[in-house]
Amino acid sequence: MFKLDNKKAVITGGGSGIGKAIARLFAQQGAVVHVIDVDDAACEQVVREIRDQGGVVSAHACDVTSQAEVRTRLAEIGPIDILVNNAGIAHIGKADNTSEEDFDRVINVNVKGVYNCLHAAIPQLRANGGGTIVNMASVAAWVGVKERFAYSTAKGAVMAMTLSVAKDYLQDGIRCNSISPGRVHTPFVDGFLARNYPGREAEMFAQLSKTQPIGRMAKSEEVAGLALYLCSDEAAFITGTDYPIDGGFITLNG
Ligand code: NAD
Repeated sequence: MFKLDNKKAVITGGGSGIGKAIARLFAQQGAVVHVIDVDDAACEQVVREIRDQGGVVSAHACDVTSQAEVRTRLAEIGPIDILVNNAGIAHIGKADNTSEEDFDRVINVNVKGVYNCLHAAIPQLRANGGGTIVNMASVAAWVGVKERFAYSTAKGAVMAMTLSVAKDYLQDGIRCNSISPGRVHTPFVDGFLARNYPGREAEMFAQLSKTQPIGRMAKSEEVAGLALYLCSDEAAFITGTDYPIDGGFITLNG
């Protein structure tokens, strides 16, 4: 079960955290993995690690906010079977203290980046007779996490894009689902704490861990397992759905 033998998979933001875990697991399960990341060095490092473990993988430096770059990279990669739209950035702020510049930056990566990849990949998936897409949303899309105005807005859009794509390409054999993680311990969280709570990282880490009723953050590998299931033939009956993986964050808090 859960084999991806010879499926060509593109993972955006595969240079770190959740994307890296997905790239590693998909390669283990037989996929031909293409890692896309704006951080060239991180991307190359992940590729080296996966190759050392016998995986078939290549690195592609690409900023998902640029439609031209995404189009070129996807054309080079060739007809794909799986797209995981995982690249994303964090931001802290409410509506009245989020600058226009920050709002645009978050929307550009977390929404336009997803659109750019869908735009370039869907014709390939369709020409291939179908395929599967997983978008990385967040519990922020469900419950609007406090002081994450731009981020929650963007992830709400990711969930809506998932539904829209699932409907529009049902007849083309393309399944599209999203995943909504609660907090996952990745460099995304560490960077966020270092930037926003310098000197209080450990205290804030413990506090963020407790916001999951289960009492900890998720591991990237746990999210990767769900992505694998959704991209495998075992999930052939699943489309147009969001899957929280959140230690009870959405339903058990309060
Ligand atoms: P991360 O910061 O560890 O990794 C994100 C990767 O995306 C990085 O390698 C980064 O270089 C890349 N990236 C950023 N901007 C890019 C761009 N413009 N073009 C190409 N690549 C770009 O983050 P993570 O924690 O692994 O998060 C991955 C996804 O999961 C994000 O969409 C995030 O919003 C979502 N998510 C994370 C958490 C969490 O707690 N970590 C929770 C819910 C959802």
